[in-house]
Amino acid sequence: MSEQFIVSARKFRPNSLASLLGQNAIRETLRQSILQKKIAHAYLFCGPRGVGKTSAARIFAKSINCENPKNDAEACGTCSCCQEFEQHSSSNIFELDAASNNSADHIRSLVEEVIYPPILGKYKIYIIDEVHMLSTAAFNAFLKTLEEPPAHVIFILATTERQKILPTILSRCQIFDFRAISNDIIKQQLQAICSSENIKAEDKALDLIANKSNGGMRDALSTFDRIASYSNNDITYNKVLECLNIIGDGDFYTLFQAIVLEKDSAKVLDKLDNFIERGFDTRVIIDGFSDFLRNLLIAFEPNTAKLLNLPPIQIQYYTELAQKTGRSIIYHALLRLQNFGKEYRYSNSKRLLAEITLLSLIPDYASNPYLQKVAAESPKEKMQQNNSERIQTPVAKAMTNIKVNPNLKPEDIIKETYSNILYEKEDTKADLQEEKTKTTVPSVKKEKIEPLPTIQKNGNPNKNQASQILSQTLDKEVKKKDNI
Ligand SMILES: [Zn+2]
Repeated sequence: MSEQFIVSARKFRPNSLASLLGQNAIRETLRQSILQKKIAHAYLFCGPRGVGKTSAARIFAKSINCENPKNDAEACGTCSCCQEFEQHSSSNIFELDAASNNSADHIRSLVEEVIYPPILGKYKIYIIDEVHMLSTAAFNAFLKTLEEPPAHVIFILATTERQKILPTILSRCQIFDFRAISNDIIKQQLQAICSSENIKAEDKALDLIANKSNGGMRDALSTFDRIASYSNNDITYNKVLECLNIIGDGDFYTLFQAIVLEKDSAKVLDKLDNFIERGFDTRVIIDGFSDFLRNLLIAFEPNTAKLLNLPPIQIQYYTELAQKTGRSIIYHALLRLQNFGKEYRYSNSKRLLAEITLLSLIPDYASNPYLQKVAAESPKEKMQQNNSERIQTPVAKAMTNIKVNPNLKPEDIIKETYSNILYEKEDTKADLQEEKTKTTVPSVKKEKIEPLPTIQKNGNPNKNQASQILSQTLDKEVKKKDNI
């Protein structure tokens, strides 16, 4: 009978403080509290999934119950308590999954149990996973015991959602915040497994697995197992792309090149078609391209490039491409792609939406002459155009040309304008008469051109007369234009 396959996440689960990866500060704090015998009665381990919260709780429980702990606070592994633990038959360490045991009754039965001392070892340790799933009634039933448990009881609560824990619970616990594990540490662990299990793997394939696990070791190991099986223990970068159904940076670079560097719309549409042919959903394509652009934007400044959590050679590639392109183009392309996410849900044709979105990223696409023509012919523009024509009548021309002295009274302004029209601008006067002739409706008998009243330039014209004449002249001009 063949040996039973054990998933890597279980097979390589940390079983000592030393093997707890990526949580150095927490590991050392726990170690010191064991050495100094300063054990709290309740702990809360918070953090994203798959970063070692439950493993840390088990290791800690095992170490504090060990009958012969080592000098570095590690469990001996040979005493009765340790052996029970290794055989998963511990009589003093209890695990409860609050996701499935979340009623007040479950907690009441637990509270009734805790008063009895442990059969073996010093402490009874209760590890309650996903504690945020407990109902309010269950929390309330738990509160009193959590505040003053018997001296032989320790609670270790674990959660991915710290914000859902009641403040009354938080204040009774010593809190440890677990953080996402760095890609480097995940990759080292994958390399160690490759050596131990005799699995071949390309370096950049392991980088990609680490990068796609978002800081979760359990997710990384589970992905690793899947790809090892798919690739028959020969893990390549392309196998990882296929297995995870993701598009590689090489493909996105081609798309980026077609959009930004070549501005080739046909190539853009062709590349999109190629992605769709390969079975990728438009959402996956656009999201992947957004990630690619985001990497470029972050890599633009060497100071922020370290945020990428990627191998140096890949960061260098992004930095060079970003600086060649310019930050503004990348930034605006990213903004446009964010809109795709909002419009996607309501779109009847996802493919068309993806096509338009990608085409709109081509730098010159928005300055299409057709769009400019449409804008120029908009009603608002037309109105403004008509107004500007009206202004160009001889009288109005003189009105617009005059430089208004702020110290002049209104009537003086009129006077000045009027005198400009009648005396100084002979050509304007001629224009005005010509205009009058031109604008007369042909079928109607030709209007007799009335001579404009004259006022001696050096005389002292009556102000009211000047204003009246000017206003009449302007009225006539405006009416004529309106009739056209
Ligand atoms: Zn032991």
